[in-house]
Amino acid sequence: MNHIFQGISSFRGNVFPGQQAMYQRLVRDGQSPSALIIACADSRVSPEHITQAGPGDLFVCRNAGNIVPPFAEQNGGVSSAIEYAVVALGVRDIVVCGHSDCGAMKGLMNPGALSSMPNVAAWLRHSHAANQIVCEAYPEGMDPKARHRAVALENVVVQLGHLRSHPSVAAGLAKGQLRLHGWFFELESGQILGYDGKLGRFVSIEQDAEIPVAQAPAVRLAAPEMGVPVAAE
Ligand SMILES: [Zn+2]
Repeated sequence: MNHIFQGISSFRGNVFPGQQAMYQRLVRDGQSPSALIIACADSRVSPEHITQAGPGDLFVCRNAGNIVPPFAEQNGGVSSAIEYAVVALGVRDIVVCGHSDCGAMKGLMNPGALSSMPNVAAWLRHSHAANQIVCEAYPEGMDPKARHRAVALENVVVQLGHLRSHPSVAAGLAKGQLRLHGWFFELESGQILGYDGKLGRFVSIEQDAEIPVAQAPAVRLAAPEMGVPVAAE
């Protein structure tokens, strides 16, 4: 822990003095992060680091496997973070960010390895669909590394589906006020892929190009004759 304590000391002595005005402004004006990012708790996957974001920029929720439990199934930290970010902070973009070499996805593929971790095993049931997609829809005999990557990519798409089951997200999408994103961070290359909802697959996020969107904002009412749709701001 020594280097962590040294880090605190360095932050207090060297960094904070230059940023005090910014922190005070963030307290005075309150936070208005531009996005909610749901990422894996893996120590190598830091949303702030890969987006070069600073304090106040991102509302972050991290857990093993970047999982979003479906709304009806579990009331907990992830559900609360989503609701707060959308309703109280008014974020317009939500990102689910998976990554390569994910231990949670390895556990999902090898449930026997989780016998001493009943909580992890129970948590990962929210990702079972990703594993089943790969088992049934991908070619048999894939090498284990490719299989692991496919499960991690499909898991991002599965969690985006769960995200839509949350009432605040469903309402934000219907009003055309929310965009959903699925990202995949490749630790080995530093590349970040984005899920393109129109293409139905991941593409690389290129510099100066438009960022791929899993679900673009579009006003959608199943019964438009009942009223005037709320216009997107
Ligand atoms: Zn992970």
